[in-house]
This record gives sequence, structure tokens and C-alpha cells, in this order.
Amino acid sequence: MVVEMHAGLASDGGSKLKMLLTFVDALPNGNEEGIYYSIDLGGTNFRVLRVEVGAGSVIINQKVEHQPIPEELTKGTTEDLFNFVALALKSFLEREDDQDVKRALGFTFSFPVRQNSVSSGSLIRWTKGFSIEDTVGKDVAQCLNDALARCGLNVRVTALVNDTVGTLALGHYYDEDTVAAVIIGSGTNACYIERTDAIIKCQGLLTNSGGMVSYFFCFICSQYDFFMKCLCEEKELWCSKCSIHQVVNMEWGNFWSSHLPRTLYDISLDDETQNRNDQGFEKMISGMYLGEIARLVLHRMAQESDVFGDAADSLSNPFILSTPFLAAIREDDSPDLSEVRRVLQEHLKIPDAPLKTRRLVVKVCDIVTRRAARLAAAGIVGILKKLGRDGSGGVASTSSSSGGRARGQQPRRTVVAIEGGLYQGYPVLREYLDEALVEILGEEVARSVTLRVTEDGSGIGAALLAAVHSSNSQQQVP
Ligand code: BGC
Ligand code: MG
Repeated sequence: MVVEMHAGLASDGGSKLKMLLTFVDALPNGNEEGIYYSIDLGGTNFRVLRVEVGAGSVIINQKVEHQPIPEELTKGTTEDLFNFVALALKSFLEREDDQDVKRALGFTFSFPVRQNSVSSGSLIRWTKGFSIEDTVGKDVAQCLNDALARCGLNVRVTALVNDTVGTLALGHYYDEDTVAAVIIGSGTNACYIERTDAIIKCQGLLTNSGGMVSYFFCFICSQYDFFMKCLCEEKELWCSKCSIHQVVNMEWGNFWSSHLPRTLYDISLDDETQNRNDQGFEKMISGMYLGEIARLVLHRMAQESDVFGDAADSLSNPFILSTPFLAAIREDDSPDLSEVRRVLQEHLKIPDAPLKTRRLVVKVCDIVTRRAARLAAAGIVGILKKLGRDGSGGVASTSSSSGGRARGQQPRRTVVAIEGGLYQGYPVLREYLDEALVEILGEEVARSVTLRVTEDGSGIGAALLAAVHSSNSQQQVP
């Protein structure tokens, strides 16, 4: 993971890990005040939020509305999807009686986006079963702005953020030791705070076509300088003094390495998906896929043995065992595994599986869960290592002068904000993840690492980032 992180930071396309720039170089610190809105569009659920904040990290009021996204909208047209989103915000604002006010809007969009600025960026590709061809390459903030304008709303996107970045923002709002965020839900991903000088791919002098050094105004301090961190000529530029850190969206769901053991079941699963050869790590970890991996294993067992008798036809249906059922099976601690029996009967149409078979099913679900949790834990340790916070002392401190610790020193407190339906709803997965962290880091270092759940953080964090960035722009334009 660490090797791939370096490669992804060195150049675009240098690794399957995209290590995307977010332009988020300031996180909420508790001084934000006012009412902010956000929209959270990602996996299974869609949310509209209104957040009222007061100085001193106080969330005075928050309102969150959940709505499932109609399946057909995930495969329809760009316009239909964004109209749905804009209309949901409209009816929310009408009920709030707030529709006439111009508000800063945070837009959490939980897919890989190449950002041009903190408030714009184009979709690289869909994940998690979404497939709307004509959105790829489009500026998704613009798509939403257009839809908002179409339904007559005087609101524009102030901050376009990945869900990991929103989660990090809320984590940091409450606790400044928060340096990374992880999502384990329908999909999986992580982001973390990186030093700008370690993001090699956005460094260097800007040269024009004649090969001469170009000078630019820094968009933060307005100084005229040639020693800019450059991203691309049309994009916002800042000088090295103004930006020391930036949040990097790893898109770790797409992580791949020859060290990652891949089973027959992983290959079959990949073949069933719309994004073959992509999101390999995600397909081993996240909620969209775990049930299906277990289904593939059980299906093979049914074919090669008679453990399920001859009533196991349903096991040949892709995605019939969803991850919530896998979790229910694994969490069943009744002596006769009655919940397992119920799931088998009601959802897989396998009546009367004997106790021995039910135990076998639990075991399969356990193995799939444990692997997912351990891979996610390994990913988290990768980030800690990159930040020099994995307790290995000097080794990683080249990438972070403040990170490494000398022998005998207390490890530095580190908080990782974490959320996602699978993580929050599945205690066994959490236990396995914690257990693996202790196993890899050792008890002392593991004690210095806190995984903190930020409920609705991706959406609330986006609203806070809208707050941060709307006041930034006020400062810039007196
Ligand atoms: C997306 C990420 C997102 C993650 C968790 C992945 O499929 O590519 O952008 O953060 O899911 O929602
Ligand atoms: Mg989400």
C-alpha cells in the first residue's frame, strides 16, 4: 500500500491508487458559524442535510433526510439523476422555508473525481453499480448547478467533496488529531492529510510552451511568484507558503498489488460486475460485494457436495445473498442457529438445512468477513506508515518530519474518522478490524490509534467544508 501511495503521488497513472487532489487545504476548526446545506450522493442512500453551527465546534442543529436512490436512476441519464437530487433539495428547502436565501452548499459525491478546484471536478468513472455513460468526464458540480438552476433554486455548489473528505472534515472539527478518514459501506475508500511537498505530481515550475518560467499570482495570498505548486495551467495555483498540507483522496478501492491473494471467487465476482478489472480492493471489502463472495463459495459447495441436498438452486442467482444477510448469519449466536435457518429458508429458499450445514454457512460468512476486515486494517496501517505514525520510528519519517518517533518515546495520538453502513452495522467486522490493527501495530501503538465513528460525517463534513470555503472566498474578494 505504501509503495503504491508513493507511486500514485509521483504521477497520474503511476499506480492503480489514484491519490487524487482535493484542493482541500483547510479543514473546519470549530470557528465556523451559520447555516449550511449539503447533499450526499453515494452508495445506497441519498441524503439532504441542513447544519447550523456555532463557534467552538458546536453543532446547534442538524437535520438529515435519507432517501433511497431509485435503482433506475443509477443507470439512466445524467439529467434525470441530477434533477432528482436538485428536486429533493428544493422540497427540503421549501419545508425549511429557506428557499430564497443564497446558501453555501456542500456536495458529497462518493465516486472518483478529478478536481479542478474545491468546487468543481469531473467524474473519472462510476463505481458501486452506477453506470450512466454520459456523466463520465463531466463536471459533476456543474451538472448539479445546472439542475438547481432548472428548478429555480438560488443555490450553487461551494465545495465538491468525496465522502471520505467530508468524514475527515467532521472528524477534524471535533478532534484535531484526526489525520485520515475511511469509509466501509457499499464501497470503500480512504483519504488523509498529506504534505504538499510530498505530492510530487503537482510540483515544479510552470513553463510555457517556449520553455520559459511562468509567473503567477497565488490564489490565496495574491503574491506574484514563480515558485508555485502547479497542477495544470488553467487551474487554481497557490504558492508553497500558503499550502503546506492537502487532503488526498486515495481511492483505495481500486488498490491492487501482486501481493494480494486473489481467489477463484474474486475472479468470478469481478466477471459479474460492470466495472471489471477495477475496484479490486473494494470488491474484497465492501458491502456491495461480501454477500456475493459468500454466495459464490456456497454455490460451489452445493455443486460439489450434497451439503444442501437438492434444494439449492437459488444459490446460482447472483447477488441473492446480500451483505446484510451475510452479517445476520455471522452474528447469529443462538445455539441452534435459528436466524441462519430463517435466512436460508426465507431468502435462499433452502428449507431444513441441518445444523451441521448451518454451521458451515456461518463459517463461510465468517471467513469472508474476516478477510475484508483484515484487508481494511492493513490499508489503515498503510496510511499510518506513510504518515510515520505506525510506530516504526525513523523508517517512515522521511515523508513526514513530524511523524516518526525516537525509541522510547510515546507514540503520537492519531485519530482516524470512520463511517459507512457496513462498518457501523456489523460489530463482528469491527472486532476483526481492531484485532488486526493490534496484531500488525502491536498493543502499545494500537492504543494510540483511535477509530472514531462520525455519524453522517460525510454529509455534515461537506456542509462544514462549504462553510470554510465560503468564508475563504469572502476574504479573497473584499
Ligand atoms: C468510490 C469512492 C468512495 C467509496 C465509498 C468507492 O466506490 O470510488 O469515491 O469514497 O466508494 O463510498
Ligand atoms: Mg455514503
